Amino acid sequence: MQDTYSSCTPVNADYVGRCFYCGLEAEEQFKDFIPPKQYLPFIGSLNMEHAPCSMPCCKECNELLSRCSDATVEARKQFLNDRVAKKYKEALTIYERWDENELTENGASLDRSIRAGISLGKEADQRLKFRGFAYELNGKTYRQEIEPDVSFEVFGETFPSYRDALQYAARAYSVAIDELSRLVSKTKSFDEAITVYNAERVAKLEKAEREKICAQFARTHQLNKGFVLRTLTAYEKRFPELSPEECLSKFRDDRLS
Ligand SMILES: [Zn+2]
Repeated sequence: MQDTYSSCTPVNADYVGRCFYCGLEAEEQFKDFIPPKQYLPFIGSLNMEHAPCSMPCCKECNELLSRCSDATVEARKQFLNDRVAKKYKEALTIYERWDENELTENGASLDRSIRAGISLGKEADQRLKFRGFAYELNGKTYRQEIEPDVSFEVFGETFPSYRDALQYAARAYSVAIDELSRLVSKTKSFDEAITVYNAERVAKLEKAEREKICAQFARTHQLNKGFVLRTLTAYEKRFPELSPEECLSKFRDDRLS
């Protein structure tokens, strides 16, 4: 069955000897068979982009792809990326959130483990971003070399990577980085994430401030705090032009004096 598979070779000499899926060094003994040999009898030619082939591959990608039944390079790359993202989740998070320059402030052993996380996460990030290369198979060329064309914007400033944008945004707009990362994955936009974060922060402060003045008012007039809060809400509805303090003063004048 080995004969059924022809070797894919990179068109650009720079990619010779590199893993098609992640860009690390490929090893001769690890080839990715597309489709995998055990599935070849069951996969119709309609599901394949070209004749069965073997792709240069590194040891780890070879292992991670051993459970992948997909018959196209795109699907196999997607499968691999999901596995790499899962396997290196912790390191990727450290790389995303930490900047090497921040490390001097920490204790030495914490420094070391974060530095190790950054370096492992950086490699995983590069592997995830690697987009393969144009290759030749039986005299025909497949796939264009695609330059990654992504950038990330934070209120008009452009960054080449998510990590750069995240670290900049967290500092420039004083947002906790893990909270920002959570909001960006929800809103898909740094601008919106920062806006939401600020609105939530203001709402939290306002809530705390309301609780504080109601507690104070309740103490002064020997009332239940929950009752004062409910009364304040009712007054705010009736007199939207008044501040919380003014509402409470009015309540006192109306009902307590
Ligand atoms: Zn690889």
